[in-house]
Amino acid sequence: MSDCIFCKIVAGQIPATKIYEDDDVVAFHDIRPIAPVHFMLIPKLHVDSLAHCGPEQQVLLGKMLLLAPKLAQEQGLEKGFKTAINTGHGGGQEVFHLHVHVFGHPA
Ligand code: 5GP
Ligand code: ZN
Repeated sequence: MSDCIFCKIVAGQIPATKIYEDDDVVAFHDIRPIAPVHFMLIPKLHVDSLAHCGPEQQVLLGKMLLLAPKLAQEQGLEKGFKTAINTGHGGGQEVFHLHVHVFGHPA
């Protein structure tokens, strides 16, 4: 997936403001935030979208969703936050590497 911008962020080939990284996932601030806090959680391994996930991504998807509130709290979203997973052209997806948007207003 050499032309995938998020794979390049995973590989460190283009810069991003990372707030979390482990063996499976990376979280970083959105370059065009729609709220004062807006970051994305992505898997390190390329998957096009939620619609391209199967049972092999079950653990990964659970991990990403469980990380969202932890990272949101660390980013100051103690009062709550929104999540979005845009899927496919009809769902407004622009970057075809699975990602969970997390955004909101700090307390
Ligand atoms: P989508 O519409 O696919 O759900 O969202 C893609 C998101 O990726 C957009 O909110 C856009 O601002 C963000 N984005 C696109 N290119 C880059 C980039 O190079 N760096 C970062 N940090 N975010 C990006
Ligand atoms: Zn990718």
